[in-house]
Amino acid sequence: MTAVRSLAARVAALQPSATVEMTERVRIARAAGKRIFGLSSGDPNIPTDPRIVAAAERSLRRGETLYSTPAGLLPLRQAIAAREQELSGVAIDAADVLITPGGKFAVLAALMATVSEGDEVIIPDPGWVSYGPCVSLCGGAAVSVPCRDGYDAARLESAITPRTRAIIVNSPANPSTHVASQTELQAILAVAERHNLWIIFDQVYAEMNYADTIPRLQSLPGARARTFIADSLSKTFGMTGWRIGMLIPPPGFAKAIGRFIGHSIYCVPPFVQAAAIEAFNLADEIIPAIRETFRKRIAFAAPRLNKVPGITCPTPRATFYLFPKLAADEKAVARRWLDEGDIAVLPGSAFGDGGKHHLRISLIGSDAELDAALTRIERLGIGA
Ligand code: PLP
Repeated sequence: MTAVRSLAARVAALQPSATVEMTERVRIARAAGKRIFGLSSGDPNIPTDPRIVAAAERSLRRGETLYSTPAGLLPLRQAIAAREQELSGVAIDAADVLITPGGKFAVLAALMATVSEGDEVIIPDPGWVSYGPCVSLCGGAAVSVPCRDGYDAARLESAITPRTRAIIVNSPANPSTHVASQTELQAILAVAERHNLWIIFDQVYAEMNYADTIPRLQSLPGARARTFIADSLSKTFGMTGWRIGMLIPPPGFAKAIGRFIGHSIYCVPPFVQAAAIEAFNLADEIIPAIRETFRKRIAFAAPRLNKVPGITCPTPRATFYLFPKLAADEKAVARRWLDEGDIAVLPGSAFGDGGKHHLRISLIGSDAELDAALTRIERLGIGA
């Protein structure tokens, strides 16, 4: 047999994401009949509302099974523009909204549009596992900036070089749950303006807020012209598997980026878009209910974790994650909880050095499962 070539470095060098890897381990253990408490993925047990499912069914039965337009269906783009405008206070033209297969592809499309070979992109540390790989897929180099407890202008400044092209900002943040304040966002924008950088603002958790409204970067005067808004229906509507999200580039760029969508995925399936239109019709009913579910889980779990010696667990203002601080090595604790308690959580360091001595615990299971997992955690402790 003749030897075949190795794959191109951009793909060969990709590492599996810690979240996907752990989810896979949980799946295999469960298939083998083991009871595992899965608190590690970003995929909550929120079923899609049956009315959204019915809208997809109706669309399929109408025969909407052919190619659609790369930018997305106009009624969906209009619904997104209207909601984004309502929440951010910024005028959004439906022509500037692109429909993507999830928020992940929205981030990738924004990077594809802004990063050339050898460019640098600032990413948060700790930060979502896909930012770094998406930057390298576009030929860029990701530069991590510590921001566990918030963005700091001086730290951002010190990471900027003549090759820096963009800053990825995620608020509310995964995994830290940090919500950037208006002042922080203002400081980020000032840095971006000073160095003429793009901002990719990932707001996929913006609707999962419990304390107050979430400041949005694009709301700041002058921000819209350099901000790519990446968002998704995944978490907001319990639609992770449908793969639908959106990218709202600065005005004037949607056509060019639409061509990238056209040449790569072509389009998001039209029946998935029909479901998304129904989701937005029902937004004021569905989103508060999902939010209440997570708020209750946080109120139940955070105080209990806080009582475990060596764990400090602030109550998150947003997301469905807990990000407790440990007086112990996070990898050792995560391993022990899995081996001795069948509990899957992620070490914070899976999201970058800034996550050391932290765990990311996802509140994605039923109340009974969460209760049982917490009881085991209370028994196991952190072993410090
Ligand atoms: N951004 C962040 C911070 C996330 O945590 C996720 C998913 O976990 C995404 C984007 C993308 O989600 P999706 O592609 O399902 O919209």
